[in-house]
Amino acid sequence: MSVLELRPNCEACDRDLPPASAEARICSYECTFCSDCVATLLQNVCPNCGGGFVPRPIRPVAAYREGTGLVNDPPGTRRRSLSYSAEEIADLVARLRAVDPADR
Ligand SMILES: [Zn+2]
Ligand SMILES: [Zn+2]
Repeated sequence: MSVLELRPNCEACDRDLPPASAEARICSYECTFCSDCVATLLQNVCPNCGGGFVPRPIRPVAAYREGTGLVNDPPGTRRRSLSYSAEEIADLVARLRAVDPADR
């Protein structure tokens, strides 16, 4: 089973997004940003894939079922950062922000 990677930071502003953070947002590829960057900089357009964002689910710490929980599937440790320029991001956001994610 492949497990959602709980990435440790916002790709745009680099703030920490620990597993219990209510501010973490993800796209379908697990690209991870904070709610502030999604609302302002990105306007619900993932700069890596063009998709929309949803709140990242919070994984329980304990294993309520065998093999689950952070005790078995800990958060990722590799910090990511954007590989596109500010201009490239602004261009994609301008193209897609008015299009509902379901219609992209
Ligand atoms: Zn951010
Ligand atoms: Zn994405």
